[in-house]
Amino acid sequence: MAESEFLFNNPSESEVIQTECAIVGVYSRKTKVARIALEGLIELNHRGQESAGIGVSNGDRFQVVKDNGLASVVFGFTHSLPSLPNAFIAVGQDRYSTSGTLSDAQPFDDDENFLFVHNGNLTNISRLGAKYGIPPEINGARSDSRIALAMMSNLRGTEREKIIGAIKEFEGAFCFAIATKDKLFAARDPLGFRPLSLGKLNDDSGYVIASESVAFSAMDATFVRDVLPGEILQIDKNGLTTIHLDRRSRLARCIFEPAYFARPDGEIYGIPVALFRKRQGEKLALYLPDDIDLIMPVPRSGIQAAIGAAATETARARGIPYADGLYTNPYRDVLKGSRTFIQPDGRDLAATNKYSANKYVVDGMRIAVVDDTIVRGSFRLVAQKLRNAGAEKIHGLIAFPPIKHKCPYGVDFGNGDLLANRIPDLDKRREYLFLDSLSYLSYAEIVECAVGNQVEITDETVFEAHDFCGACVTGRYPTEIDGIIDKTL
Ligand code: SF4
Repeated sequence: MAESEFLFNNPSESEVIQTECAIVGVYSRKTKVARIALEGLIELNHRGQESAGIGVSNGDRFQVVKDNGLASVVFGFTHSLPSLPNAFIAVGQDRYSTSGTLSDAQPFDDDENFLFVHNGNLTNISRLGAKYGIPPEINGARSDSRIALAMMSNLRGTEREKIIGAIKEFEGAFCFAIATKDKLFAARDPLGFRPLSLGKLNDDSGYVIASESVAFSAMDATFVRDVLPGEILQIDKNGLTTIHLDRRSRLARCIFEPAYFARPDGEIYGIPVALFRKRQGEKLALYLPDDIDLIMPVPRSGIQAAIGAAATETARARGIPYADGLYTNPYRDVLKGSRTFIQPDGRDLAATNKYSANKYVVDGMRIAVVDDTIVRGSFRLVAQKLRNAGAEKIHGLIAFPPIKHKCPYGVDFGNGDLLANRIPDLDKRREYLFLDSLSYLSYAEIVECAVGNQVEITDETVFEAHDFCGACVTGRYPTEIDGIIDKTL
């Protein structure tokens, strides 16, 4: 079989889908809340590019506008912003749409009490659905978020009691922004899987929340603090209050967030992402083979780790420079966005189209290529391009341990078809990827990038020992996972 046939006829590589998204919330009686929400969604579009939506409340009614596409496209070309007069609450979401239809684009509303956006994945939702008599498919979508909203709506009590009552029963990963007619609620799961930050509008008229604090500058807000794991915040005319706090002795913050999803100019869990990635580079420099002429990244999330590796004493003493050996065409798929990991299909094809190897940089060179992670193996296509452009040797330095297990908490790596499982033998995997050598960061090293010092535990328990989830590399899930809904069915 020809190589290209092998690559593109492999259905498990081209049909994999992934989920991750961004949420925002705004409360202000002075400023245009939908406009502020849009600014946040545009800043967070790296977390989900398939659909965008904003819902607003003016105290009497809700209005929701959502569609497929980047936030700037949905609200710049396709639709106008929600226009409800005197709206003072907004919630919004950038989404990777699992079905490719609008059926799972958010915000969801229950026609009465709540506007609801969710980042993460609930791991006991099928059990809760059965308990409360809610079907697994609502409005054409198998969605944990729809079931969560239906369950919340059906509980007895005030809106606040319904929200607290439902959240106490949820397990797994969740960050919510929930609007009632006159209040904004924000919640983060007790294990802190996903990030969520609180900001204050600079005109002192209210508060904002966002999946990453990098959104606050464009929202004309200032970072106040992270929403605490297990915290439910209520924002209303009386200001901001914590109405519930479920403190756990252990957290399970997703280690993949600073390594891959987060924007490099921000902080995740209080860790500067740029520093995390620089440390990745410093650790990768320990794996530099002897025969190297230059260090280069696979753009974009490999860039800072590659710079970090090239800036080490080791690299400088050996005179190994940093170079851009791959050009990324910024105009390709500009209306869809450019992150290949979170596109619903054709990641490998997208990877080949997106990158162009610069033969004037790599021809005749022995290169170390830094990539953020290897999931299914599209790195192979990048290596192929570099070979075709004349690279003499290619060494892969991978800034994350091999991904071997599915993530039930909102990141879909493609069940069962991960490269490290398909080709467990490291040398055979190196061959498949067209590389001369292949090195990954270890469990302990990736945790050290987060904590900033050497760790004592080096086996697979190092993640939980430092309040992280690393289940996609170790298989040690911090929660029960038998109650998830497989959205791909
Ligand atoms: Fe993050 Fe991996 Fe845990 Fe999923 S399994 S939450 S991607 S560390």
